[in-house]
Amino acid sequence: MSDHYAVIGNPVEHSLSPAIHAEFARATGQDVAYTKILAPLDGFEAAARKFFKDGGKGLNVTLPFKRQAWDLVNFPTDAESGYAIDAQAVNTIKLVGEELLGYNTDGLGLIADLERNLVVPIPGKRVLLMGAGGATYGVVHPILVREPGLLVVANRTLDKANQLVAHFQKGRRIAVGELSAKPYDQLSGSQFDIVINATSAGLKNEMPPLPAEVFAPGALAYDMVYGKVTPFLKFAGAHGAQTSDGLGMLVEQAAESFLIWRGVRPATKPVIDLLRREGGGRRAEG
Ligand code: NAP
Repeated sequence: MSDHYAVIGNPVEHSLSPAIHAEFARATGQDVAYTKILAPLDGFEAAARKFFKDGGKGLNVTLPFKRQAWDLVNFPTDAESGYAIDAQAVNTIKLVGEELLGYNTDGLGLIADLERNLVVPIPGKRVLLMGAGGATYGVVHPILVREPGLLVVANRTLDKANQLVAHFQKGRRIAVGELSAKPYDQLSGSQFDIVINATSAGLKNEMPPLPAEVFAPGALAYDMVYGKVTPFLKFAGAHGAQTSDGLGMLVEQAAESFLIWRGVRPATKPVIDLLRREGGGRRAEG
């Protein structure tokens, strides 16, 4: 019988994860079945425990359960465990013996998309991260480990960005250098090499109130939302930045999960290309 994995969320019906993992399994010759679980909003833990009791080997966790998954799991002792601990969110669970181990692969997925696929290295770069929700928490530590010259977090609700910065400053595992929080209206006069939209504004065809001059010459504008040209990407392109949506991040974080579960990291480019040909996904998950 195939080893059983699944993505659990609410809603989950439009998730691209089953298609991505089916491609990974086919390409690597792994005997894997990957399904979707729609958990009731008040029933994440029961649904997850039932999945593992019935023989499941691993789960991807998507909105709105990543924080509850963090409460459910233990953390492995390898180098990447700190990402999930600091993010206070878990998107990958692996059953090891009787124990549920939790990981967060979103940050590694973003880094892989930026550095490998888009060939935009982070070390020394000035990075602006917009948003202070779960997606931002997931990527701050992996970005800092890559030693950017500067990491500024901007958020509509400034208090949340301040809390995020305080959270990572009291983190035990990393020395936090140039990490700061700013309101959007204090970004005028600053320039960044990488501008990442980790807000959900694009889903509503909105964008954060970003001054046009933030894009340094040759800057990359990256929107975690995928499958559409968001107002942020249009704005960035009109002001000279190169642009990317978050489809590559989605596939790369899935590849990191596959690696955790199966010990092999599948090639991602063929899957990204396939999904782009098929329309790039019609709704965001993550
Ligand atoms: P979240 O926790 O709900 O946070 C949403 C953030 O967006 C908050 O900081 C919020 O600001 C901000 N925001 C919403 N509408 C805005 C607007 N009109 N103007 C300015 N800021 C606005 O969501 P999340 O979990 O962090 O996810 C954020 C996005 O990333 C989602 O679209 C998600 O699908 C995507 N994502 C993609 C991947 C991937 O693999 N590609 C992975 C993870 C997440 P306030 O604090 O002021 O409300």
